[in-house]
Amino acid sequence: MRYADATHGFRRTIDRMRGAVVVGLLVVASLAIGASVGASKVSAQVMRYGVVMDGARNALAAQWTDEPKQVERAYCVTQWWSTASRKAHVRASNDTATVQKPDGRDADTVFRVTEIKPIEAQDATPNGATFACPAGVPEVHTHPPATCYGDRTDQCYSGGADAYSCQPSREDVHKLMERGDPFAIIQCDKHAFVFYYSTKE
Ligand SMILES: [Zn+2]
Repeated sequence: MRYADATHGFRRTIDRMRGAVVVGLLVVASLAIGASVGASKVSAQVMRYGVVMDGARNALAAQWTDEPKQVERAYCVTQWWSTASRKAHVRASNDTATVQKPDGRDADTVFRVTEIKPIEAQDATPNGATFACPAGVPEVHTHPPATCYGDRTDQCYSGGADAYSCQPSREDVHKLMERGDPFAIIQCDKHAFVFYYSTKE
């Protein structure tokens, strides 16, 4: 489709960490990616949070399936806003600049996603998909609830070591850094949305 931009297209071979790891730990690991930005500035820890709001959440949940024989799906975040220290911004890709609170600390940022649209992926497999949203439009992709031998859907089974993988892969993070979007999202269950953040400020 029209989003077949090779410069942003990214083919992953190993999308998800192999091995059985407790999902809760994975979520903590993904949050640490966002938190690590502020870690180098101990006195100015910046926290970033993400929330998928009702409309987008319901749309993503409606298209979720537990069918093991499926490939990854992708979406573009067509409407979102962020707040920092009660100052709202709308749909600006560079609006993550931190705001100083009255006490001198940097304000936390909350991203709220209100609208998503599906985007056609190329070469989609159970472990990856090539797609690219337009510049400045954050991306969402699914991690299916199955474990597969190779990249073939006929060799997948429900559950297993790779199912419900809620952390971004190394390739996912690399792609986010290349694009420069402030965040990206993984849907790893019907109502589970994991944000991960750019370390660029
Ligand atoms: Zn991924």
